[in-house]
Formats: sequence, C-alpha cells, structure tokens
Amino acid sequence: MSLSSESPVAVLCSGGDAPGMNAFLRAVVRLGLNRHQVPVLGIRDGYRGLVRAARQVNADTDGLVRLKQEIERNIGNRGLIDAQQNIIQMDHASVSGIMGKGGTILGSARCLDFHKPEVRREVIDLLGKLGVGSLIISGGDGSLTGARLLAEESNLRIIGVPATIDNDLQFTEMSLGVDTAVHTLVWAVDHFIDTARSHRRVMVLETMGRESGDLARMAALASGAEMVITPESGALTESRMRGLAEKIEGAMTRGRGHAIVLIAEGVKFEPEQKRNGAYILRDAFQAYFQRAGAPFPDLEVRPSVLGHLQRGGHATPGDCILAARFAEEAWKSLLDSNGKNGITALRYNKVEIVPFGCPDLPERSIHSRAMDALHDDLANW
Ligand code: ATP
Repeated sequence: MSLSSESPVAVLCSGGDAPGMNAFLRAVVRLGLNRHQVPVLGIRDGYRGLVRAARQVNADTDGLVRLKQEIERNIGNRGLIDAQQNIIQMDHASVSGIMGKGGTILGSARCLDFHKPEVRREVIDLLGKLGVGSLIISGGDGSLTGARLLAEESNLRIIGVPATIDNDLQFTEMSLGVDTAVHTLVWAVDHFIDTARSHRRVMVLETMGRESGDLARMAALASGAEMVITPESGALTESRMRGLAEKIEGAMTRGRGHAIVLIAEGVKFEPEQKRNGAYILRDAFQAYFQRAGAPFPDLEVRPSVLGHLQRGGHATPGDCILAARFAEEAWKSLLDSNGKNGITALRYNKVEIVPFGCPDLPERSIHSRAMDALHDDLANW
C-alpha cells in the first residue's frame, strides 16, 4: 500500500520506556504532517494497545464502526487524555512541549499475548481494517523481535527504532535513551561521591543494562567512578572479588579515602547467586576489609541498586537529535517504493536502515574493550 493522506502510518512505543521516545514521537508526527502530509495514528501502550483495539473490534459487529468514530471524534490531546482510547489520531498540538520529557506520552507496555501468532494475526487484520499500511515501532530487543514477526507475517511496512537505555542492541552504535541514562548515572555518582568522601566509604552502585555492560562502562568513563564491573569481563568468583577488594585496599593504603564501584546488573557470579550484585559485592568487600589484622577494619561498604531512576528524566540534546534522525530515516524508508522493512541504526555516525536480524557491528565489542582499557588507565589506583 502506498503512503497517502488516506493511509495513515501508526507509531507505538514498546518495552521499557526510554528518554527520547517523546522527542521521537514528536518528530514522527511533525514530519508526517508537515513534510509528507500523511496522518499519524498513535497506539497507546505498545502492542498491548493494538491487541486491546483488535479485541474491541472483534467484540461485536459494530466494534469497528465505534473504534473509527472514537478515533475521528477524539483527536490529539482529547484522545490522549482518555486512558481507555487505544488509538489516537495525532495532531500538531498533541506533540507540543514534549521534546525532552521523559517517558512516552503514548505509554509503553509489555504484552505477553503478542508472542502468540494468532494474536498478531488479529492485530494485522485490525490494521488492515483501519487502512494502516505502515507501522513504526520503537523499543528494545524484544519489541524489535515482535516487529520482525509482524513484518514476516503480513504485507505491512514495518520500521523498528532502537530505544532502550541498555545499549544492548549491537547492530547500532547507540539506541535512544542511552545518552540520557549515562547522564543520569553521572549525576547519581556525583551525589554518591559526596557521602563516600565525607564518610570515607566504598559505594557499590548497580546499574541497568540487562546482559550488556555498556551503560555501566560509559557511565564509569564519564563519571570517573574508580571501578566498573561488567558481564563481558566474565563471572565474578570469590577469588576475583577478593582481588577487587585488594585493589581498593591497596589504594587506601596509598592515601585514597573512598571509592565508587559500578556493577552492571547482568554480571554473573560463580557459584550462581540470586541476590542483586551490589549486595553480593558489598558482603564480599566488607568481609575482606574486616578480616583479622586488616589495615582498615572500619572501612564501610554501602550498596545501592539504582533501578528505574536510570530510565526517567529529561532527555539529553543528544537523544533528542538522535530521535529526530531516526524518525527522518524511518519516513524516508516508508516513502521509498523500493524501501525494505528493517530497523533504523546509527552506524559509523550515519543513520541507515538495517534488515531485521542484522549481525552485530564488530566495532561495538572492540570499542567496549577499548573503553575498559581507557577507564583502567584513567583510574587513580
Ligand atoms: P527493554 O530493552 O527496555 O527491556 P524490550 O523491547 O526488549 O525493551 P521486552 O519486554 O523484551 O522489552 O519486549 C517488549 C514486548 O515486545 C513484549 O512484551 C512483547 O509484547 C513483544 N515481544 C518480545 N519478544 C517477542 C517475541 N519473541 N515475539 C513476539 N513479541 C515479542
């Protein structure tokens, strides 16, 4: 189906929210209306909103008529205000003043039902009935898998957009939200340093990132945190933890008064442990510092799991700019009659569309190792 004013493009945010999603929505809507004269439908709560709307339509014979009436009646902010409205025709005003706002005005969600092919079929049918031929999906790894399946199972044009603070999508140099999350972590470290310095403490801060250590690594480099532990450097054994504690104690012996340690949530332990890494590390460090004859038995170790703090907050200019670039590339691909389904990606500082299932950028892991080495050489041990 070619893009026209009769064939709206739908957009949704899925998975964990990421700063920059609002800037992205704004850019998708404004480019659609201003540059391409194509209407944009905002889907509330990611795939869940689509599934709810499909059920609404299938509930009775008038379902589709009522859904269309609702979309036409409650345009823009009127639709956004009504938490029950799953599909909203976006207008200029609905994306005014949201550029840097954290979260997403459309809402995001996880939707287990979407794993079922028969549920995706209902969604495909719904979009057909609404005349929607193209869908832009922003989210993390799982959301982009859902996007790929939709593309394989329908004639829809589908563009995925990487949005996750974890930076675990290895086919792109950056995902939306990462820059802001690093910024937030630097802010957090700055706050923890005040107490660490004043009380001569070791602070162990656990960061998000799923299986990837990139967020922790970037935050350590940008904040000057003394130590960063990432999944890529292998599982933490008791002897490795003792080695890290020795390193901190050695620095204290040479006059250092405090240390900030970042540990990524994806770090594994051997033997396997169920608790948060920050607590396990705290116990190991504390036991080491308090062993018989230790030079600093009063050295306290305090853990903190930073959690969802990292997802919120005003998006950085870097994320807002990336959001606009991703949105522009998504439109470019949708308007190209030879355009293919795929995902917007930042590669070698250029935004392009890569196919679903695109292999990792080899530079990503090389770059991570280089960052680790750089961080090590910058630390004051
Ligand atoms: P984040 O990186 O923030 O966790 P994410 O997109 O990876 O974001 P997930 O919870 O993995 O978050 O996925 C979001 C949603 O995408 C799921 O709730 C589900 O609706 C859809 N999804 C994930 N994996 C699949 C899959 N294999 N098949 C179909 N849909 C999927």
